[in-house]
Amino acid sequence: MENKNILFRSLPKVDEILQKEKIEEALNYIPRDIVLESIREVIEDIRKNIQSSTITKASIEERIQRIDYEIIEKAKMKIQPKLRKVINGTGTIIHTNLGRSLISREIMERVVEIASEYSNLEYDLEEGRRGSRYSHIEDIICRITGAEAALVVNNNASAVMLILSTLAKNKEVIVSRGELVEIGGSFRVPEVMEQSGGKLVDVGTTNKTHLWDYEKAIGEDTSVLLKVHTSNYRIVGFTESVSIEELVKLGNQRGIPVVEDIGSGVLIDLSKYGLSYEPTVQESINRGVDIVSFSGDKLLGGPQAGIIVGKKDLIDKMKRNQLTRAIRVDKMTIAALELILREYLDEDKAIRNIPTLRMLTIQLEEIGIKAEKLYNLIIKNVDKLSVEIVDDFSQVGGGSLPLEQIPTKVLSIKSEDFSVNLLEESLRTFRTPIITRINNNNLLIDLRTVEEKDFDIIVEGIIWAINNCRSV
Ligand SMILES: *Cc1c(COP(=O)(O)O)cnc(C)c1O
Repeated sequence: MENKNILFRSLPKVDEILQKEKIEEALNYIPRDIVLESIREVIEDIRKNIQSSTITKASIEERIQRIDYEIIEKAKMKIQPKLRKVINGTGTIIHTNLGRSLISREIMERVVEIASEYSNLEYDLEEGRRGSRYSHIEDIICRITGAEAALVVNNNASAVMLILSTLAKNKEVIVSRGELVEIGGSFRVPEVMEQSGGKLVDVGTTNKTHLWDYEKAIGEDTSVLLKVHTSNYRIVGFTESVSIEELVKLGNQRGIPVVEDIGSGVLIDLSKYGLSYEPTVQESINRGVDIVSFSGDKLLGGPQAGIIVGKKDLIDKMKRNQLTRAIRVDKMTIAALELILREYLDEDKAIRNIPTLRMLTIQLEEIGIKAEKLYNLIIKNVDKLSVEIVDDFSQVGGGSLPLEQIPTKVLSIKSEDFSVNLLEESLRTFRTPIITRINNNNLLIDLRTVEEKDFDIIVEGIIWAINNCRSV
């Protein structure tokens, strides 16, 4: 009791703390309110320590000694941006929770210029009058995909919404039951349909839909034959679906537009690089699909966007829809997308310069070399940790190529002193969070999605995490 009172009395007052040199210094770059809040929280926390007597007198005294450092650390945490860089050690390339596709620094520099200066976003420089923000990218999208016209909106979910709202409001849309998918927990075909005002007519069964299912369902009110790429799952076994060619033929016969939501929007044939074949946007256009929509930040490797390509008369109608104004893209998106699409004019350049494509096609040997470098760095700087380089598989993610298992190299880490879960959590709460995977009681860092420039941070993070684990 006596001890407690002495400790309580030794706690400095707020005013005293404010006069400490380090705190005065911190007040130059941290708002006063936040410093004050941190002071109160730290004092309160030490009080609790004293009250509960779970911590030794000596360590409480030490905490009081260093109270200014603790307060500044706490205040710094409070002013750190909430959205920040993480290191993706999961090996999932298009990780929706971790921001999907990365945009290269070179391209972002141009985006910074557009965003921090005035631009001709909606200004026709030749005519000296109002122009269209979409004009900057329509030509290049058409050139790459072979489509007559194009429109870019906020994301693919809004693209599908706009398409249906324009072509199918209060009318029927025929979709196969096997394609009534949910993607990413928030994009559900039946619900998007309802929002857009289209009436869903589902045909066939979960595993089989035949051409005659569509034929039978076509009526006076049919406005669209919709095909949805079942991006994130596959039904295997006794299955049948109607090919896009057959659907286009039927649509042409009956004068009904065929719309395809292909989800990922691949613009190059990935089977050339040892991956499974995934239908490209160009193929859909070639096969006569009237309207195709896809995401900008999945396999395309660009910013968040929804791209609509296809017949000019239909796209013109969409451009006139009021909804287009509500889901329009920002100048930064347009700037990034234009430059990324330009890379696609030369496929080798696209593979080299677009991070998503580079990570997807990087050779196993190259990943192995990276793994060895990181392994050596860790071994050199960290002891009492078991680290091995092992074979594993990466995933594409983003609801793309769901069954694809791409061979990779991972660092497999564990310690005898603490659990792998604790290590995973500690790395995740590091200054630069490091996101990893756990498999069979080992912590895995997949080198496919980790860049060499981040190796030092990873080593630092591991050292910090181990200390953290030991102090728990
Ligand atoms: C991912 C996906 C969407 C949603 O696209 P966002 O760009 O995330 O809005 C829609 N349809 C399909 C088939 C998809 O794969």
